[in-house]
Amino acid sequence: MDCIFCKIVEGSIPSKKVFENEHVVAFHDIYPAAPVHILIIPKKHIASMNDVGADDWHLLGEIHSAAQQIAKEQGVAESGYRLINNCGKHSGQEVFHIHYHLLGGEKLGPLNA
Ligand code: IMP
Repeated sequence: MDCIFCKIVEGSIPSKKVFENEHVVAFHDIYPAAPVHILIIPKKHIASMNDVGADDWHLLGEIHSAAQQIAKEQGVAESGYRLINNCGKHSGQEVFHIHYHLLGGEKLGPLNA
């Protein structure tokens, strides 16, 4: 499958990983939009929120659990951060392997800027 995030999961494309377990990988966004910008993805290829199947919901819990740990490790748990999922054309989703952006390290702008 020609999916850049699947290749990051496999290790055939390099990434700066900050977290990995059985279900989830997290790594620095290549074009950071904030001082802390981490992408958190399931290892399983799921194209978008629209494609999360009945057996996959636990993966979103795994992602949130990873986000809580990563926010602490990146030093933004106390100052605050956003966890954002883009789904589909109007959201600007570019990579069709579901992912959450963890953004922080500065006061963030309006949600719909
Ligand atoms: P989207 O717009 O929500 O789909 O976000 C995709 C994100 O993936 C963007 O913030 C990109 O900068 C990021 N991205 C694309 N390719 C890579 C890569 O190879 N490594 C790390 N981040 C990437």
